[in-house]
Amino acid sequence: MTEQRLLLATTNRGKVRELKKLLRGLPLKIESLDRYPEFGKCRETGKTFEKNSRGKCLYYSRKYPGLVLAEDSGLEVEALGGQPGVYSARFSGPGANDQKNIKKLLKLMAAVPGDRRWASFVCVASLGSQGRIIKTFRGRVRGLILTEPDGHNGFGYDPVFYYPPLKKSFARLRPEEKNRVSHRGRALKKVRLFLESYLKKK
Ligand code: IMP
Repeated sequence: MTEQRLLLATTNRGKVRELKKLLRGLPLKIESLDRYPEFGKCRETGKTFEKNSRGKCLYYSRKYPGLVLAEDSGLEVEALGGQPGVYSARFSGPGANDQKNIKKLLKLMAAVPGDRRWASFVCVASLGSQGRIIKTFRGRVRGLILTEPDGHNGFGYDPVFYYPPLKKSFARLRPEEKNRVSHRGRALKKVRLFLESYLKKK
């Protein structure tokens, strides 16, 4: 296998940390968007994870001379009809951050009983090159929304996402534990398998 370059099309540090771990060992020089401020920012205007993921992938693959991996992810809460969904990062409005988003979510969920607090994290990852999509991959994980934050690991909604099989919130999992079961981990396992054979053919 010859070493190629792959751009992680995100500036979200939490995502970059996880994605780098998940792709470790592949014969790829992995870079993140922080190194390329000249690429500008791709506006996320889609109403689905798929659309945003593919849109970001196409945008950056027209600028970057290598492989591009873009992902769009978020939380779908069943009692809220799938909200915040593609708006997960911006849920609390202008100036949104993880803390404010969690606060808004817990407020909306205040009257929802334990057995109706199911939610899923969803990740759609798109791999592309030279202005075209090579393949799109999905991952999903289901859990329960806690009534208050628990734990300090991870990012985003991790402190309020309880994963019943491990009896812990995502923010109480070690990075490797989260990657093994998370939406991003599940999507990236497929990306990894695909890249292993794709890179051999190059
Ligand atoms: P985007 O994909 O950059 O539009 O934003 C995804 C948003 O979804 C993040 O900013 C988080 O709020 C949330 N999110 C996605 N993946 C995770 C995760 O693994 N843990 C917690 N929150 C996540």
